[in-house]
Amino acid sequence: MRIPLIAGNWKMNGSLASNAVLLDGIRAGAAGLSAEMAVCVPAPYLAQAQAALDGSGVNWGAQDASVHDSGAYTGEVSIAMLRDFGCRYVIVGHSERRSYHGETDELVAQKVVRAIAGGLVPIVCVGETLQEREQGMTDAVVTRQLKPVLAAAGGGLAKIVVAYEPVWAIGTGKTATPEMAQQVHELIRSTLAQADSTAAATVRILYGGSMKPDNAGELLAKPDIDGGLIGGASLKAVDFLAIARSA
Ligand code: PEP
Repeated sequence: MRIPLIAGNWKMNGSLASNAVLLDGIRAGAAGLSAEMAVCVPAPYLAQAQAALDGSGVNWGAQDASVHDSGAYTGEVSIAMLRDFGCRYVIVGHSERRSYHGETDELVAQKVVRAIAGGLVPIVCVGETLQEREQGMTDAVVTRQLKPVLAAAGGGLAKIVVAYEPVWAIGTGKTATPEMAQQVHELIRSTLAQADSTAAATVRILYGGSMKPDNAGELLAKPDIDGGLIGGASLKAVDFLAIARSA
């Protein structure tokens, strides 16, 4: 049985004051939900998230981590540092990291290995651009992105979460139909199964891309959609909680 995970990706948004309101709202509304909730906040706010959410059942995490353990890597944040702040999750390979920071499939796979070794759960993002979808390349792109992760994760595959995030749906208001998303989620699960069929049955595969309270229910009803990675709608407690309630 896969407990749904509704994870927020705040991206580069927030302030101490606005986060306090958001975190209090999430904490207050999360009790009794059957889905697991988590927020992935900007690194400077990890201590705030930890203080606000500790003991609430809501988990927290980061949006990226370094592939290095320590040393002369100005601006980077290690997995061990994230552990120091009680993180459970770290997003890796978000399309914004891949496109703005040139992260390759291989680098993403190495980050997955680091996260698992450091006791964090990587939320591994995959997904095609609009051009790739229009060229009928969705399956090939998602498989290409996953393959190095599967090879690198080895026996740790059960410890990851995958997020299918069609790039054309992120922050655009365009959502994949539940059928389109389910088709890719099924492909992801069967690709995972080729590496480890036991792990594939338990790994949660989230959908991300303009998931909102009014479309979440239909998406989350699909058999291989085990939760959501939520950007914009995770910045309002009422919307984020509404999505979690529909899981
Ligand atoms: C995201 O950035 O991971 C995301 C899914 O964003 P949005 O929900 O805003 O499309």
